[in-house]
Amino acid sequence: MSKYTGGCLCGAIRYSVDAEITELRHCHCRDCQRASGAHGAVVAVIPRDKFKLEKGTPKRYAAKADSGRTLYRFFCADCGSPIYSQRETAPERMVVRAGTFDDSSTMRITAHIWTASARPWSWIDPACDQLSGNPA
Ligand SMILES: [Zn+2]
Ligand SMILES: [Zn+2]
Repeated sequence: MSKYTGGCLCGAIRYSVDAEITELRHCHCRDCQRASGAHGAVVAVIPRDKFKLEKGTPKRYAAKADSGRTLYRFFCADCGSPIYSQRETAPERMVVRAGTFDDSSTMRITAHIWTASARPWSWIDPACDQLSGNPA
């Protein structure tokens, strides 16, 4: 039995996660702002082998990140919802968009990254860890 399930807006993409998720990270980089159309991305980092696509195949977009590394961004080709991303150099980790989980009541944001490019209208909880750029 999977611990979490989720998917895109139209339902073409569905996935399950078999790992406990408690910590989320809010990325304020410009790419995440553009890809979300909002104040960045709130994500959960989980091991690749705990993530399973149950339905559909997301479209892949390769973006050169501010860090200089290639980041693969996966989204629904029908409705455009961003689902997850993977670093080219770290395929063993999945960075899943927290807003696509059906239930995220066990999760909370513990860190904000790329705060140097945060929008002035984006609230950052001072109790969270903050990094002006990429996590080490
Ligand atoms: Zn969709
Ligand atoms: Zn980002």
